[in-house]
Amino acid sequence: MISVRNLVKYYGPTLAVNNVSFEIEKGTVVGFLGPNGAGKSTTVRIITCYLSPTSGSVQVENHDVLTDSLEVRKRIGYLPENAPLYLDMNVVDYLKFVQKMRVQESSENGRRIKIVVERCGLGDVLHKNIGELSKGYRQRVGLAQALVHNPDILILDEPTVGLDPNQIIEIRDLIRELGREKTIILCSHILPEVEATCNRVLIINEGKIVADGTPAELQASFEGKTRISIQIKVNVDSFRDHIAQLNGIDRVLSSRPLGENLLEIEIEAVKGFDPRENIFNLCKADNAVLLEMKREETSLEDIFRKLTRKEE
Ligand code: ADP
Ligand code: MG
Repeated sequence: MISVRNLVKYYGPTLAVNNVSFEIEKGTVVGFLGPNGAGKSTTVRIITCYLSPTSGSVQVENHDVLTDSLEVRKRIGYLPENAPLYLDMNVVDYLKFVQKMRVQESSENGRRIKIVVERCGLGDVLHKNIGELSKGYRQRVGLAQALVHNPDILILDEPTVGLDPNQIIEIRDLIRELGREKTIILCSHILPEVEATCNRVLIINEGKIVADGTPAELQASFEGKTRISIQIKVNVDSFRDHIAQLNGIDRVLSSRPLGENLLEIEIEAVKGFDPRENIFNLCKADNAVLLEMKREETSLEDIFRKLTRKEE
């Protein structure tokens, strides 16, 4: 378990992390989501013992980052924002070198490198210098170095930045696969990435945690009034009034002609009410042909924007 309590970090006068607390259970894949400058990297640098906090505490499996940092580091694999790779080393030598720094000599080590190489799809580039590799392959080497000591916890800071769409999908698949057996913290400012890979989301903004839950929980707690838009073919002029008076309708937001007798109407329902059946029955009664009915739900993206937008 990772336990962060009242964490505060100042860089000189800049408050980067402002009293952050959270706990992460073993086996969870957590998306640590926030706009640039929110404090994600600073928080994970403290968890990984690269920075010390101004105040507050962090414990990893009951080991404190300040007093017991070796034990903490043994348990964590970390891919920083800019993976620190030695460009003049070849892939396999680099991985062996990193492993040697982290764990004692053992007959297991060679096997572990093989597993990691296979996992990260590095078989074809083992003897290439890292400097010759594409950004996608370098990122895989970065992931591989985070895995060579077989840590239970993996912390990945924006692992897909700068990759092309195919490479992004590959890395996301890999993260999802690793998530079956490891606790993962994935820092990202990209929502679909977090939605695709994580079972819990922590949203941070201006150094503070502003939301915490599963994607479904966040959606449920932010669910506002349901919006429904319909496209209909109708001859009855008063259809708009009829719909406004319908049980469960709060107001008609807009009504737009799309062609002859063709209308697009946007409606807001009373909170917690699903008026779709009533709308359908009204269409039947008014002889309107219902061409389309769409219910718009709050997306994680709406929530993220709402929570992290700067007030104008
Ligand atoms: P994120 O990873 O969410 O983009 P960071 O943790 O990198 O956010 O940054 C949080 C805040 O701390 C920002 O205002 C950033 O400018 C500031 N900051 C980050 N690193 C340093 C540093 N080494 N020195 C001074 N300020 C920093
Ligand atoms: Mg960052």
